[in-house]
Amino acid sequence: MKTAVIRVGAALVLVGAMVSVSVAPASAYAFLGPKWGNSPVTVLQDGSNSAATRSAWRGGNSDFNSMTDIKLESAPGSVAMIYQRSVSSANVTWDGITYPKVRSGKYQASTNMYLNTRYTGSYTNAKRRGVAAHELGHGLGLDHVSGCHLMNGATPSRCGIYRPTADEIAGINKLY
Ligand SMILES: [Zn+2]
Repeated sequence: MKTAVIRVGAALVLVGAMVSVSVAPASAYAFLGPKWGNSPVTVLQDGSNSAATRSAWRGGNSDFNSMTDIKLESAPGSVAMIYQRSVSSANVTWDGITYPKVRSGKYQASTNMYLNTRYTGSYTNAKRRGVAAHELGHGLGLDHVSGCHLMNGATPSRCGIYRPTADEIAGINKLY
């Protein structure tokens, strides 16, 4: 039986020119560059998400909503800024991925994020929620950092941290 080190990727889908700003982190957060230009950010879950996947996304949303200055709210209709979806694929090494759509250095509706249930299906609820929170961190503008942090790019290297901590909260609050 193969033991996979699951890396979590952030991919930027570039629409037009993106100006990327690197910030040397004095604190344990880093920025991708773009951010949302308005708040609240509307989110919508794909109807095909399983109950476990729905719960994970909801948990991540709730954490950022209650802990940080960004406001997330359920999209009133079928149009949202962030779409939270799921796939099941054994052919990739990521358990979650985010595809921000960017124009002129700002996030544009609609950003798609996925949980890969091929892997997250066997995670504990807390760990699955952690992948959702990590992807949401990308979806709001956070980049990877090393060490024991929610935004570490490899799920096994997060040292069991599956919810935003002071570092991610500080990063988001600097952006919004
Ligand atoms: Zn990531």
